[in-house]
Amino acid sequence: MITILEAIKLSTEYLKNKEVDSPRANAEILLTEVLKFKRLDLYLSFDKPLTENELNIYREFIRKRGMRIPLQYIIGSVEFYGMNLNVNENVLIPRPETEQLVEQIINDNSQRTGLKILDIGTGSGNISIALVNNLNKCEVIGIDVSEKALAVARSNYEIYPSENKLYFKQFDIMNNDVNQLGKFDLIVSNPPYVSLNDYQNLEPELRVHEPIEALTDNLDGISFYKKIISLSNSMLNSNGKIYFEIGKDQYQIIFDIMKDCGFDEIKIIKDYAGIERIICGELK
Ligand code: GLN
Repeated sequence: MITILEAIKLSTEYLKNKEVDSPRANAEILLTEVLKFKRLDLYLSFDKPLTENELNIYREFIRKRGMRIPLQYIIGSVEFYGMNLNVNENVLIPRPETEQLVEQIINDNSQRTGLKILDIGTGSGNISIALVNNLNKCEVIGIDVSEKALAVARSNYEIYPSENKLYFKQFDIMNNDVNQLGKFDLIVSNPPYVSLNDYQNLEPELRVHEPIEALTDNLDGISFYKKIISLSNSMLNSNGKIYFEIGKDQYQIIFDIMKDCGFDEIKIIKDYAGIERIICGELK
């Protein structure tokens, strides 16, 4: 017989040896998932023995986490903007910074109706689904190059449907003809912004397990911004806006590119870590 507390202690030690960050928290969260407990219930049941079945499932979870598979992929879901979204290794795990991007768009546009919105590189659909459920009458198209990612996005929209229109479409923004998409009032994107150089140094959770095409452009990390900004003249309606999530230290170069292409009222917003993380601007 092994109790909850013993299982947590053993797993914490195991994960620590595998250099997992916050091993105890990981061990506890995975056990709450096995037992369908809240974290607090766990603390109140330290002496409770685990059944054979619970232990087997837990062992498998801990083994996977020891392989540096992200917690969210093991659990199969992530919290994003009040929703519990499905994720798997075909989509980038939505990050808290991206909730800030969504928040900014909703705050700036809450008085407007009938907006047409394009979400480039929608992944799990997190941005599109949060927007379509929190803006007044609007129409959102979420595009992604990966059909496998779109399957996840569609499954999430089934869980969080909206009166507003949202559809997902396979589309390669680098190579396909954007005239097929029509024109938009807002373009939103959290593109792959890690440079090839920085990519080599990412933690195994990201480098080995998250989709490479969601993280890096295999170049300098800014090629998607350049491409999208250069297309904005043909994709944006008058007074249309762009909202980007950006990587560390990219704001100046992206600001300059936007300025050069005729964008105005460019704003840069910092994330909770004090890093310039969101840039938005209007094309007059
Ligand atoms: N936020 C990811 C990171 O932690 C990068 C996501 C992206 O490239 N859009 O590096």
